[in-house]
Amino acid sequence: MVNDKKAWSLFHERSYEFQIMNEVQRAKIILKILNKIYPKIKVPLKSRNVFTLLISVLLSAQCTDINVNNVTKNIYKKYYRPEHFVNLGRKKIENLIKKIGIFRIKAKSIYNLSKILIEKHNSKVPKTFHELEDLPGVGHKTASVVMSQGFGNPAFAVDTHIHRLAQRWGLTNGKNVVQTEKDLKRLFPKKNWNKLHLQIIYYGREFCKARGCYGISCKICTTCYPKRKKFVITKKA
Ligand code: SF4
Repeated sequence: MVNDKKAWSLFHERSYEFQIMNEVQRAKIILKILNKIYPKIKVPLKSRNVFTLLISVLLSAQCTDINVNNVTKNIYKKYYRPEHFVNLGRKKIENLIKKIGIFRIKAKSIYNLSKILIEKHNSKVPKTFHELEDLPGVGHKTASVVMSQGFGNPAFAVDTHIHRLAQRWGLTNGKNVVQTEKDLKRLFPKKNWNKLHLQIIYYGREFCKARGCYGISCKICTTCYPKRKKFVITKKA
């Protein structure tokens, strides 16, 4: 009986190790393919300093980057510091961003966070997750983008697209975005996180869209899963 138990626990350990090995191997292949397709990667949201990057990321929730860039290109010529937005006031901010979804809520966040930056942070964007996530309208994903693209600190922002691709590639079980972020951080070296986040987003937009492919057509899946026959159904974030 004791021996049976030992044998089972050894079996589970081994199969877990095996599973990890497979994930690690898949992650290496994916990294290689993405580096080949996107050797250099551009930050899609346009900004003129870390503060305007923060505003653009906040505006990009439920809105395309192109739409955000179209709206902000005129705003940032004149307004690019927290003081500018506080002086404008909520109503004028609403008018400036009204082509963007949920603009009233976003205008309120921009006004309030600008005030807090002036009062608490010497008009600077703070450099810690804790302080960033304390700002109105700033969640973990927004904070991660600012940390990586604004300050160059390693972070792995996971949005719905990255969540979907990570499942199709067998890098996570898709429980939720928090788990997906943990899994991706465990599987990829820290030095790759910032670039990889963008590479996966670009790959998702170009090839691996929400509808249209379920894991059996292009190089990543055919290399990682040569025997895959069935569609992969992903869980939403
Ligand atoms: S085969 Fe489909 S799911 Fe897999 S990477 Fe290509 S586009 Fe994405």
